[in-house]
Amino acid sequence: MSDSIANDPTDLPTQEFEQSLRPPDFEEFCGQAKVKERLMLMVEAAKGRNDALDHVLLCGPPGLGKTTLAHILARGFGSEIHITSGPQIEKAGDLAGILTNVQHGDFLFIDEIHRLHPAIEEYLYPAMEDYKLDIMIDSGPNARSIALSLPKFTLIGATTKAGMLTRPLLSRFGITNRLDYYSPEELVIIIKRSAALLKVAIEDSGALEIGSRSRGTPRIANGLLRWVRDYAQVKADNNITGDIARDALAMLDIDEDGLDEMDKRILEAVVFKYGGGPVGLNSIAVAVGEDEATINEVYEPFLILKGFLKRTPRGRSAMPSAYRKLGVKPPSGSDSDQLELL
Ligand code: ADP
Repeated sequence: MSDSIANDPTDLPTQEFEQSLRPPDFEEFCGQAKVKERLMLMVEAAKGRNDALDHVLLCGPPGLGKTTLAHILARGFGSEIHITSGPQIEKAGDLAGILTNVQHGDFLFIDEIHRLHPAIEEYLYPAMEDYKLDIMIDSGPNARSIALSLPKFTLIGATTKAGMLTRPLLSRFGITNRLDYYSPEELVIIIKRSAALLKVAIEDSGALEIGSRSRGTPRIANGLLRWVRDYAQVKADNNITGDIARDALAMLDIDEDGLDEMDKRILEAVVFKYGGGPVGLNSIAVAVGEDEATINEVYEPFLILKGFLKRTPRGRSAMPSAYRKLGVKPPSGSDSDQLELL
């Protein structure tokens, strides 16, 4: 898999566009200071011992840089990285196939590791701990297990839901590295770097306009930049000013808090359809026609962070700012005293 920045990113399909903007090393990776510092220390220690890096768990909402960090780590060791994801590994044989291709010091990146089948997890434990894979072949009276020795490798697990990982799996990763949403100022730095790679001129006010509407997420910031770049090319001679960014983003129906159509539909469902809640995730999903997991992992964390929704033991409730966002008066007592359950 190539994530070289040598390509001209201007006209690439989305996935390649993202890869082309991926920072290649820690120096260019902006933000997440604590996680970065910790990982850099682990790298230095492992290199000092001439050893493979310990297994690493990265968690946080989509688009915050988990895959990017995995690539940076592998590159730091000059190692190959093998990429897969929890749902892609359906049978023990799939895992065996991947692990038998891994060479000494390679990295294995498992995205959405919380979605690994429990039976596969069982195979992963000895692979992570003792670099052994015990697989069963045949069934019934002929069933026998074969133990394969694996080269020392580093597993990088990424998850949007660390809470869904089993305790034994969590304990095989030393520490949990939690990525947080980025501040608008950090996003400005990321956007300016991306703009330079895209060869488009951007003023600070333009970068801030995009950064503050990007839901604290670099992937969204880069996606919006791509749109604003097109807009500026047609309307403003390739120069992104604050006004141009604002006009371009208005065309996408993204408001000043970074909320898009789906966010607003979710708030509308809770406020108008379910009287402000509490309402279950399942009912919201049906009302807005979006998958439950996507609402739970992509939309809801940001709406909660911004104080529009809160999770209570009985479901999701709208906060006064949600009513204001929809242009209606919050009912008295809507900022109730229900327990927050995060
Ligand atoms: P995740 O794996 O968490 O979903 P990715 O690592 O794929 O997220 O990042 C999404 C995009 O955001 C990448 O294309 C990368 O260019 C950009 N990105 C993420 N984090 C950073 C960062 N800290 N600095 C610069 N760009 C970043």
